[in-house]
Amino acid sequence: MNTTVVFSQRDRILGGLWGSLVGDALGVPVEFKDRATVQADPVREMRGFGSHRQPAGTWSDDSSLLLCSAESLIHHEFNTEDMGKRFVRWHQEEIWTPHGKVFDVGVSTARALGRIASGMRAEVAGGDDQFSNGNGSLMRILPVALRFAHLPPKPALEKIHRASALTHRHPRSQMACGFFTLLVRELINGKIIPDAYQQTIIAFRAFYESEAWWSAEWDYFQMLLAGDLARRPESDIDSSGYVIHTLAASLWCLLTTENYRDCVLKAVNLGGDTDTTGCVAGGLAGVVYGLTSIPADWIQQLARKGDVDCLFHDFADLCESTIGTK
Ligand SMILES: [Mg+2]
Repeated sequence: MNTTVVFSQRDRILGGLWGSLVGDALGVPVEFKDRATVQADPVREMRGFGSHRQPAGTWSDDSSLLLCSAESLIHHEFNTEDMGKRFVRWHQEEIWTPHGKVFDVGVSTARALGRIASGMRAEVAGGDDQFSNGNGSLMRILPVALRFAHLPPKPALEKIHRASALTHRHPRSQMACGFFTLLVRELINGKIIPDAYQQTIIAFRAFYESEAWWSAEWDYFQMLLAGDLARRPESDIDSSGYVIHTLAASLWCLLTTENYRDCVLKAVNLGGDTDTTGCVAGGLAGVVYGLTSIPADWIQQLARKGDVDCLFHDFADLCESTIGTK
C-alpha cells in the first residue's frame, strides 16, 4: 500500500521527527496503564491529563532528549560531550521541556546524566550491566540514525553505539539502536516495509554475528531475527520499558498497519510504556509515510510547535546536504 506514493527524503526525515513527538504525546496520558485498561478506552485522538496530569500535546523525556540530540548534531558534526551536556541541561535546567518542567525521567538515564554532570566522560557514563537495558537510548536515537544514513553501515553504527552509550552502554541496548538504525536506513530509501525488515535482518547479521562481544546477546534478538514478526499475535508482543520489547512492538505495529495513524495508535494502545512505544513506532511510521501522513491537528496541538518546527527544519537542511552522498 505504501509503495504508491513517492516521498522526498525531506518529507521522510520530517515525518520521522514529528512522528516521534506525536507518538510520544499520544502515549503520555496513558503511560503505565496495562493493556486491558487502555483497550477498554482506547486512545484515538490527542488527549490531555491522565497519567502525568499534562495538557493535550505534551511530549515527554523521549522527545526532549531527541530534540537535544538533533540540536547537538546541528551545532557539531558528532560530539558526544556536547550531546551529553545538552542532556544534562535538560535534566537540570529543563531546556527542551514542553512546559518548563521535567516530569518523567528513566532511572538509567538519570544515573548516567548525574555522572556526566559530575565530570565523567560522556561516552562511558551509561550503565553497562544487563539490568540497564531500558528503552532510554532507543527512544532518542532517530536523529543520529537520520544524520548518518548516508554513511556505510560500519561508521554509522559506530556512531550509534557511542550515542547510545551516553545513557545505555550495554551491548544489548547498543544493538537495539543498531537494528533500529539499519531499518531506518532501508525505509528512508523508500523500500517497502517487509523488504526493509528482511534487509535489516541480513545487515544486522552481517555486522553483529561474527564478533563475540555482540553475538553473546544473540538470543535476545531471536524474535526480531526470525523474520516472521508480522504473523505474531498481539499476545506475543510485550510493551514494557525493556528495550527489546519496545523495538519488537514498534516494528510489529509498523508491519501490521498501513498508515501512520493506525500504526501509532496501535502502539499506544498496547499499554505499558505507551509514550516510548508510541515514539519509536511513530518515528518509523513517519519515515515510511512522510510528514503529510501525520494528522495535522495532532501536530498543531503539540507543545512548543514553533520552536520544534525551527529545529526540525534546520536538522532536515543539514541531512539533505549530505544524504545521497556516499
Ligand atoms: Mg517518556
